Amino acid sequence: MKELLKNIVGADNVLADEPMSAHTTFKVGGPADYLVSPRSIEEVRDVIALCNSQSVPWMVIGNGSNLLVGDRGYRGVMIRTVENMQQIFVTGKTIVAQAGALLSAVARQALKHELAGMEFAAGIPGTIGGAMMMNAGAYGGEMKDIVSQVTILNENGQICQYTNEDMAFGYRDSVLAHDRLIALEITLGLEEGNRDEIAAIMNDLAGRRSSKQPLEYPSAGSTFKRPEGYFAGALIEQAGLKGYRIGGAMVSDKHCGFVINIDHATADDVRRLIEHVKKTVFENSGVELTPEVRLTGEF
Ligand SMILES: Cc1cc2nc3c(=O)[nH]c(=O)nc-3n(C[C@H](O)[C@H](O)[C@H](O)COP(=O)(O)OP(=O)(O)OC[C@H]3O[C@@H](n4cnc5c(N)ncnc54)[C@H](O)[C@@H]3O)c2cc1C
Repeated sequence: MKELLKNIVGADNVLADEPMSAHTTFKVGGPADYLVSPRSIEEVRDVIALCNSQSVPWMVIGNGSNLLVGDRGYRGVMIRTVENMQQIFVTGKTIVAQAGALLSAVARQALKHELAGMEFAAGIPGTIGGAMMMNAGAYGGEMKDIVSQVTILNENGQICQYTNEDMAFGYRDSVLAHDRLIALEITLGLEEGNRDEIAAIMNDLAGRRSSKQPLEYPSAGSTFKRPEGYFAGALIEQAGLKGYRIGGAMVSDKHCGFVINIDHATADDVRRLIEHVKKTVFENSGVELTPEVRLTGEF
């Protein structure tokens, strides 16, 4: 398998038995059999065709900022966009970005070209492809508001164009979370803006993030989706879980909505803490929390 993968993406872009702790913001996770970094849409398609023909499981990832990989790792091929698929093109009020472009980098381009609408996403540490899966959002904005078209690879290896409507964006949800589809290239429609005003909004949001969120510790951001009519962090605090620890994983005492890796946590510590929080919050308030972070691999 290794040689076949190398033939597609080049020897430098295939890693075997690669610890996923090095590729996720939680900094936990065992080895992926293979971690490959394709350089083009065609290479993504060819890697997936190879995996399918060999019955090898595969998964596409971006920056690993919403991902918890089990301690025993992932049996199959992790296809990582963030390494070699980061190109961004700006024409008029339109930005076209490859799936592996970081939201922060796309937002910098928007600022440079005085395009407004992307400010909310500047501090989200994921790729724009990952942001399609989750309809990433913050401070009143979400990707749904600015996406006009997405180039998609479907299960049959066909490349097609999805409109905003086709993406079926919902709260931290899209068609990609349900069907086996990959976002390859994303087109954003932005508005003309003023550089100083765009920069001021980005700075303000960055300040709000660093004052409220435990950015000094590894995490995957908000661990749970916001339940309708509630805030996950407040429910967790009311359930007496502020600072609650299992092994090296802890409910942040700065923001209870974040599970953080405070001291060499294992993926199992994090998983067990998530389960404990869900159970305790349900017993305390009757509200069922749904994890936003996506679990994969063997625990
Ligand atoms: C400190 C911190 C703060 C955060 N703040 C926010 C926030 O304010 N708002 C918010 O929404 N999120 C936030 N997040 C979570 C995370 O950054 C976002 O969900 C982001 O969109 C995930 O992108 P990623 O590239 O890291 O995806 P990954 O974690 O690599 O993958 C997440 C999921 O998306 C899938 N995926 C990745 N790329 C593709 C692709 N090209 N096509 C199809 N599926 C794909 C993966 O298979 C996986 O299921 C935060 C995380 C951290 C660590």
